[in-house]
Amino acid sequence: MATNPHLDERADGRVALVTGANRGLGLEIARQLAHRGATVLLGVRDPRRGSQAADELAATGLSVAALPLDVTDAASVTAAATEIDRRYGRLDILVNNAGIAGGFTGPPSAATVDDLREVYDTNVFGVVAVTNAMLPLLRRAPAGRIVNMSSEAGSLTRNAAPDSWFRDYNAIAYQSSKTALNFVTLAYAKELRDTAVKVNAANPGFVATDMNHRRGHRTVEEGAAIAVRLALLGPDGPTGTSQDDNGPVPW
Ligand code: NDP
Repeated sequence: MATNPHLDERADGRVALVTGANRGLGLEIARQLAHRGATVLLGVRDPRRGSQAADELAATGLSVAALPLDVTDAASVTAAATEIDRRYGRLDILVNNAGIAGGFTGPPSAATVDDLREVYDTNVFGVVAVTNAMLPLLRRAPAGRIVNMSSEAGSLTRNAAPDSWFRDYNAIAYQSSKTALNFVTLAYAKELRDTAVKVNAANPGFVATDMNHRRGHRTVEEGAAIAVRLALLGPDGPTGTSQDDNGPVPW
């Protein structure tokens, strides 16, 4: 990676939590952060699959551990925060990665409120719940970083463009959940602007994972890079932005 004054390229000594980290982008973000020296907690809702993922990374010499965390379960979120507090007393990096596409695609007029509610539970309410639970720990870190995994599919500007890539893509539940997540990102950045905590949204591109039946044209390594970059922003780095590998993405 090129030298960049806005970026701390190493993460030695930092404690990171990545939600939804047993597979896909979350697992790769965890791997890349641990590779840079961070101690990474893999937030996982299935302890068995989580331990397997953590064991595989740990076998390569990385400092990782699985942490039970279902972002839609208030008790699970509280227990995870309590455990991080007990073990480390602070959290340097939170990557809100856990997300679902939901079962619904089709025109908005065919969607039910429950279709939206299901996706919002994880992609929006889950992020707010986890962020609020972890914020006291992030405030205790010298340079707390929050990264929310967003999607250009939720960018109002990109969707409104006449030649939009998303012209024929109809996924109101998923897309509007990411639009809401973008606002959530801005709202926390505003609240935290006079603190050391930075909050940004990462857009990984169209990545081949289970979420899209492996149809994406980018690899997880490529898709994870922007989240890792935002997680390792130096003190001069931005807050309240949405970014992909090429820079800011319009809201
Ligand atoms: P995957 O479907 O491959 O993985 C999703 C992960 O989220 C899994 O680990 C899953 O756990 C976890 N998860 C889902 N619900 C919960 C929950 N309630 N609590 C905890 N963990 C949960 O998706 P991707 O890796 O592709 O996506 C990761 C993020 O990146 C998502 O937020 C997605 O919206 C975003 N993104 C992805 C793009 C892509 O092209 N792939 C493009 C733009 C954004 P489990 O194994 O238990 O189901």
